[in-house]
Amino acid sequence: MTKILLIYTGGTIGMVQDAKTGTLRPFNFKQLTKQVPELHRFQLELHSVSFKKPIDSSNMNPQVWVHLAQIIEKNYTLYDGFVILHGSDTMAYTASALSFMLENLSKPVILTGSQLPIGIIRTDGKENLITAIEIAAAKNKRGKALVPEVAVYFEYELYRGNRTLKYNSEHFDAFKSPNYPVLAEAGVDITYNDNYIAKCSTKKLRVHKHLDNDIAVLPLFPGISKKITESYLQIKGLKALILYSFGAGNAPTEPWFLSLLEHLIKQNVIVYNVTQCLVGRVIQGKYQTSAALKKIGVLSGEDSTLEAAVTKLMFLLGENKSQAQIKKLLSKNLRGEISV
Ligand code: ASP
Repeated sequence: MTKILLIYTGGTIGMVQDAKTGTLRPFNFKQLTKQVPELHRFQLELHSVSFKKPIDSSNMNPQVWVHLAQIIEKNYTLYDGFVILHGSDTMAYTASALSFMLENLSKPVILTGSQLPIGIIRTDGKENLITAIEIAAAKNKRGKALVPEVAVYFEYELYRGNRTLKYNSEHFDAFKSPNYPVLAEAGVDITYNDNYIAKCSTKKLRVHKHLDNDIAVLPLFPGISKKITESYLQIKGLKALILYSFGAGNAPTEPWFLSLLEHLIKQNVIVYNVTQCLVGRVIQGKYQTSAALKKIGVLSGEDSTLEAAVTKLMFLLGENKSQAQIKKLLSKNLRGEISV
């Protein structure tokens, strides 16, 4: 029988309202399965593990990602698929991080959560949970997993994890994958877009457990001041800076701004250009406002989400690699996170 491991980390799906303050806080996982008796009707073996202290995903961090990767590593041969229940706020970061940490996947790792707690009558949590389990368990005729990659399932759509972003905090339809097609759609049946789903790896799973968060993000806005931007030069041990740029990767051409970036690059800081636009890509040199960036050695983030860029940098910096190797790998598509 197909075996699925449910990993509960926290998030709205399992929250209750504090009677005194009215704020939402995580509660005991056992109560969560009680709320979904339908789970017992699945023709599969469902086991679960829960974080001792479930968290709101705003408290997510690289140590927790390592813990999650270790849970999957420990149980990898015992289960056919994994479902991670996670808060929606940082789900796209966790999905991106896990996509880099879990190399050579041949089994599904599906993240899901909800906008309303599972105990509330109008909850979106039940459908999300039930369909995520079904996707994690789905196999083809040869017994291979249909979705052998890290993916996010939310509100009838399945997305590649490292292409996903949360774009809506009010609608049930909270996620988008603007630069990559949906992997599957759940209607009366679940339709899989096989052409876009990663192929099953035949290699042994490799789990990368070192992440380096000596990185920063510089979000551009018109009027950004020299004083504030210069403070990035003072960050001790900074290894990479994401230049969160305009449009197709554009930035101010003011000499002070460019010389500041050049200074950082000379100090061996990797400067990685990621666009604030949700759809489209960085094309350094398309406009005069990005030509100089290319010249001074800023690297293009292509059509990466910010979430994928942050976690790809943490992953590559955590590996024992030279800066030249890291730079080369940044422009390569490692886990389907960019189209090159
Ligand atoms: N704040 C919650 C979290 O990310 C929101 C959610 O789960 O939807 O944990």
